Amino acid sequence: MGHRFVLDGPEELIAYECDACLLIKNAPEIVVLPKTTQEVSQVVSFCHTHKIPFTARGAGTGLSGGALPLKGGVLISLNRMDQILEIDTENHTATVEVGVVNAHLNQALEATGLFYAPDPSSQSACTLGGNIAENAGGIHCIKYGVTTDHILALEVVLPDGKITRLGGKTRSSHGLNLIGLLVGSEGTLGIITQATVQLTPKPTEIRAYLATFSTIESAGNAVSQIIASGLIPSALEFMDAFTVKAVNQAYDIGFPEDSEAVLLIELDGTLHVVLDQEDRLMAILSENNAQQTRSAQTAEDRQAIWAARKGAVAAYGRFQPAFYLHDTVIPRSELTSVLKKILAIGKKHQILIGNVFHAGDGNLHPNILFDPDDADMLQRILKGGEEILDVCLQAGGVLSGEHGIGIEKSKYMSRLFSEADLNKMKQIKAAFDPQQLSNPLKIFPIRAGCGETHLSISNPLLTTGGAWI
Ligand SMILES: Cc1cc2nc3c(=O)[nH]c(=O)nc-3n(C[C@H](O)[C@H](O)[C@H](O)COP(=O)(O)OP(=O)(O)OC[C@H]3O[C@@H](n4cnc5c(N)ncnc54)[C@H](O)[C@@H]3O)c2cc1C
Repeated sequence: MGHRFVLDGPEELIAYECDACLLIKNAPEIVVLPKTTQEVSQVVSFCHTHKIPFTARGAGTGLSGGALPLKGGVLISLNRMDQILEIDTENHTATVEVGVVNAHLNQALEATGLFYAPDPSSQSACTLGGNIAENAGGIHCIKYGVTTDHILALEVVLPDGKITRLGGKTRSSHGLNLIGLLVGSEGTLGIITQATVQLTPKPTEIRAYLATFSTIESAGNAVSQIIASGLIPSALEFMDAFTVKAVNQAYDIGFPEDSEAVLLIELDGTLHVVLDQEDRLMAILSENNAQQTRSAQTAEDRQAIWAARKGAVAAYGRFQPAFYLHDTVIPRSELTSVLKKILAIGKKHQILIGNVFHAGDGNLHPNILFDPDDADMLQRILKGGEEILDVCLQAGGVLSGEHGIGIEKSKYMSRLFSEADLNKMKQIKAAFDPQQLSNPLKIFPIRAGCGETHLSISNPLLTTGGAWI
């Protein structure tokens, strides 16, 4: 690998001290940057022999602290494994190394008439390895499915260093679904080094629309009715008034600011199908008292709308330097009442909350904005964050739709799963990783006394709401 690709100086390690969950920081002891699966295997074999923990890292855009080596050991950064190995237009597949950035795959597919559908808003930075490990979603996943629906094969370095290959270029249904188990396993079952992904033909017609509403109720009702009607838009996203203001300031996109909620909707398919869906969509929007509906006139307009949507979290930076983002999924029928409760929690604790989310999937993203140097605000956002989670769970929701559990939500796992369920999951983890070396202290609640952790910086998430460690 060469010394150049082993980092151990404090000024080098600081770049790896957190992911995009800005509430928790923990610099690694050492970072290695392998170029090949064999090099990953050699590092992991060494760790296995010497009982050293190891943690995989892609681009570090994760929002649940997943890529932090909380028990010390080796951080294995996969960014140099960035080759697209094959694009097979006949079979509609691509085989990639896991350090390939999500958007780079679609750029490479530009002339083929095919695309890779899962498109997280972080797609210009996040890696396909990180997407697979988190089972990432995105704006277009309402119609096309999340990452797990697009993975045909994986190459994996198991926690003892052995290399294994699962799947091929076709779907299969023999044996236990180990690919399904590895997708979303957050680096706890080994390190994924290559993947073969399913590609989708590009639709011939794509139309994007913007609809504004004077109340959150009417926007929420429109979402429920769109889904109940059987329409399957290729995107159905929600922005609250604060988010509209933020993206207008940041990107000069000119979204109307005289409303309480905006829906961004996309339809795709053949022209005939899209025209039929457009009529049905417009009827539903008008029935739910949309104030204005606009459609993007050109492909550039459409791209600008989605760029502003995907850049919403960055736009919040104009109001506070950091954000704490939740990722619950609730039944879509609960959208309005939960959103109102979230806004009330913001008022109660005097914290700024922006809501921009995958409404069609019921996947909420309350972005709680804060200043990390303001200790009082930090306490208020943690309290508010916990209350938001409570509200969502009480509404029949779940902890995460696409960002994973990591360390950030692990203490809440026992609210959703029984002891018996958690033990079954732990047995699966132990079958892959009996020495508990692959990304330890993630997903499962940590009991007091378990933690000879290497946490070096204050970590508010680990010390509020009961002792974790
Ligand atoms: C502004 C913003 C917008 C976002 N929007 C979305 C969105 O729309 N949808 C969405 O799903 N997510 C979104 N995210 C979250 C994040 O981008 C995704 O979770 C992404 O999949 C993480 O990829 P990464 O390469 O950055 O992984 P990292 O953050 O580096 O790692 C994430 C987890 O995966 C593990 N891991 C990484 N690579 C591997 C590997 N090769 N093998 C095994 N384990 C591995 C790590 O150990 C860690 O647990 C957003 C994040 C930001 C900052």
